[in-house]
Amino acid sequence: CGTGLSSHEVAQGYRRVEDPSISVRMRIASDADSNYKQELPGKTALLTWTTTPWTLPANVALAVAADATYVEVEIEGERLIVAKDLAESAIGGDYRLVRGFPGADLIGLAYEPPYRLIDDPRAYRVHSADFVNMEEGTGIVHTAPAFGEDDYNLGREKDLPFFHPVDLSGKFTDEFPLCAGTFVKEADREIVDDLKERGLLYRYAPYEHDYPFCWRCDTPLLYYAMDSWYIKTTAVKDELIENNRKINWYPMHVGEGRLGDFLENLKDWALSRDRYWGTPLNLWVCDACGETVAVGSRKELVDLAIDPDLARTVELHRPYIDRVELRCPKCGGAMRRVPNVIDTWFDSGSMHTAQWHYPFENEDEFKENFPADFISEGVDQTRGWFYTLLATSTILYGLPAFKNCVVTGLGLDENGVKMSKSKGNVIDPWDLIGKYGADTLRWYLYSSSAPWKSKRLGEEDVKEPLYKFLDTLKNSYDFFALYASIDRFDPARDRGGAPTVLDRWILSRLSSTTAEVVAALDSYDVVSPAAALERFVDELSNWYIRTSRR
Ligand SMILES: [Zn+2]
Ligand SMILES: [Zn+2]
Repeated sequence: CGTGLSSHEVAQGYRRVEDPSISVRMRIASDADSNYKQELPGKTALLTWTTTPWTLPANVALAVAADATYVEVEIEGERLIVAKDLAESAIGGDYRLVRGFPGADLIGLAYEPPYRLIDDPRAYRVHSADFVNMEEGTGIVHTAPAFGEDDYNLGREKDLPFFHPVDLSGKFTDEFPLCAGTFVKEADREIVDDLKERGLLYRYAPYEHDYPFCWRCDTPLLYYAMDSWYIKTTAVKDELIENNRKINWYPMHVGEGRLGDFLENLKDWALSRDRYWGTPLNLWVCDACGETVAVGSRKELVDLAIDPDLARTVELHRPYIDRVELRCPKCGGAMRRVPNVIDTWFDSGSMHTAQWHYPFENEDEFKENFPADFISEGVDQTRGWFYTLLATSTILYGLPAFKNCVVTGLGLDENGVKMSKSKGNVIDPWDLIGKYGADTLRWYLYSSSAPWKSKRLGEEDVKEPLYKFLDTLKNSYDFFALYASIDRFDPARDRGGAPTVLDRWILSRLSSTTAEVVAALDSYDVVSPAAALERFVDELSNWYIRTSRR
């Protein structure tokens, strides 16, 4: 949907997809600046590998592992260079090993890119990088700083030119004439065909891997280097990890594993969004001197505004807020708000404070309720709401925002497929509630398995507690109510008679069941209390009432 996403949003939407995987010849242009010298000029190529052919036009460098061994092999009269460990899988067929050498020898080698689209002496050379992976591919990594995080970092480190022939809607610009106007993922085919025609394609195979999709609109995501505003969460990484450990997670592995792993590999929080709707980012920048001010309240806005009357009454959303200009505290020039809004996960992650309109009012309520005793949400919120609550509270107060978290599993449809609004396989709980009653659905969710297990919401499963438990309870009550009203029983008056053995037994069962339920609920266990109550109701109906009837 044409906006930047933060890494915790990206983490929510990985899916298994099939993409083309290709290996491509990058012929050697010059060995003047490398230790490696070619024996067969014009017939020697570096073999590189990619699963995103559309990123090849933005290629500006190749990366190798300096301390790994690379080999030059001969096959059908041509020489190919790949990592030694990957030669067999990458080359295939009958090849002859010519010689081996360390990756460092290749550094500085100039090669002929598949598309020479920029004229820059820094481009189209071999560099060393520590992310070169020896598990798949060729050990020679195609690098396009505009389209990958590792690539981008390498580009900064080695001062590579930055070439970005794609617009914000994901289509190639005129800078790549072959596919100008085509959505990049749809250009794969055309690029592969073109490489094949020009004799650059060495191998083509379908490749299955995990690819991120937009959690909101389900289109494939593109890595796109763009300017954004960030919260430097990496500066409080240790505190985040420590605060995460203070939270009691049910189940434990969500905190230790899912969120723990995410925090170990923490990235800064990309906060700004290029949308219209949303909470406006509260940054004003001076036209004249570049001074930036983060406005923290309506009062600050009024104090700094060029037109205080406007600032006093203005609706704080776009487009109205954009009319408010501030007086630069440094040079007296006019400051304008940046056009962005903020990540909606920042709003939900601020609820511990924002729900009380703290610090502007309700200090007592805030202090009484922070941190929250308990929150509960679906497992898909681990890197969403759970993380953003933790991040904002750690930065503001140095504490986790909640003490206990019960993570619920996902609702699955009858076939065990995750329900989601966008797939249209959502079973409407109101239908089930209308048919079997709210308590039946509630009891099914409590009693069927721990809250964090995924649950099928098939009608057959959901209605079971009605016959097995709730009806028994209701019949027991009806039985009592019927005779109590016939006998005009009045609990205040009719307390006479010593309890029978059966009476004493059921009262004893009632108090031990109560103790069991309370103890389990105190430790956030709902399944065993449900089982204990089911046992009690069974004993009440099938033993106490049945045996007491004379
Ligand atoms: Zn989207
Ligand atoms: Zn200024």
